[in-house]
Amino acid sequence: MTTATAITNIASLVTNDPSLGDGSSPSNIGLIQDAAVVIDGDRIVWVGESSKAPATDNAFDAGGRAVIPGFVDSHSHLVFAGDRTAEFNARMSGQSYSAGGIRTTVAATRAATDEQLSANVAKYLHEALRQGTTTLETKSGYGLTVEDEARALRIAATHTDEVTYLGAHIVSPDFADDPAAYVALVTGEMLDACAPHARWIDVFCEKGAFDGDQARAILTAGRAKGLLPRIHANQLSYGPGVQLAVELDAASADHCTHLTDADVEALAQGDTVATLLPGAEFSTRAEWPDARRLIDAGATVALSTDCNPGSSFTSSMPFCIALAVRDMGMTPDEAIWSATAGGAAALRRSDIGVVREGARADLTLLDAPSHVHLAYRPGVPLVSQVWRSGRPQL
Ligand SMILES: [Zn+2]
Repeated sequence: MTTATAITNIASLVTNDPSLGDGSSPSNIGLIQDAAVVIDGDRIVWVGESSKAPATDNAFDAGGRAVIPGFVDSHSHLVFAGDRTAEFNARMSGQSYSAGGIRTTVAATRAATDEQLSANVAKYLHEALRQGTTTLETKSGYGLTVEDEARALRIAATHTDEVTYLGAHIVSPDFADDPAAYVALVTGEMLDACAPHARWIDVFCEKGAFDGDQARAILTAGRAKGLLPRIHANQLSYGPGVQLAVELDAASADHCTHLTDADVEALAQGDTVATLLPGAEFSTRAEWPDARRLIDAGATVALSTDCNPGSSFTSSMPFCIALAVRDMGMTPDEAIWSATAGGAAALRRSDIGVVREGARADLTLLDAPSHVHLAYRPGVPLVSQVWRSGRPQL
């Protein structure tokens, strides 16, 4: 192993592989105390107790700190321009949130240059990286014309492999009097222009955005063009989104704030991940999603930032973990799993969100002895190094 690097003296290592755990945690995060990880190129080639680590030419001493898989943020909206500080300020002064605020960002995004939009994506990706995120999904949805949506996806694809076509974010203001014509555009000419640049298709299924029949038509059209479905579901009100997601085998139903017992049961029975976005509830001062209820029912839960300028302007997975533990009924182990392996499941990826032989060498070193500190020390910048595809980033 001449090119390999051993990361040694790890006080506690979250692997998310229960078969690797040393029994020090009863949960499924595969915790190893006094651990080492060996990386070679962009891959992990060995994981285990420090005392058993193979000899390597290069070593990095973790100094008795914790290592976790790099965060997998499976839901963000980074291709945007403009600012909605005034709207946030008004909301925190008593006004309520509705889907319509998106129009403000649409106008600013259309007016921006490619360079401005790309620089914005790079800026927030780096901000997320500094907070331990190594994989980040992002979406279109602030263009809402054929050219502007395709442009957003082309720009997103230069920054990440996980790109989502969200022409169906809201009905374009240009089609306010004829939503059916906008759905026809989203499923027709716009889809044709966008599909080559995206992996996923998404729809905001909500009062004021798209109803269940429209959402089904949009996701089905996307699937016919080779895109995989995911859905903004049950954020602001009860609705058909979650059950539609399970019916269409969407990778993820995102938000899941207002769920009936039947919705929870559908998620527990299906392969659709329930992705919770507590930054949105925080930033809109709304009711928290009930993670405890979903986990107890047997659903797979992911945590993500929903980073966007309107309803959740945070790129911080540690912040979301702290909220999930404090206010959504998750244990620290469950929250770290959901922010890593859960996000990977929401992107149908098995090569990330886990620390085991063969996985991509995406690791986050915390300036703390344990992952529990992410919730125990909220708001404190604990990330001290990040390896992405085996390369140190900070
Ligand atoms: Zn979103």
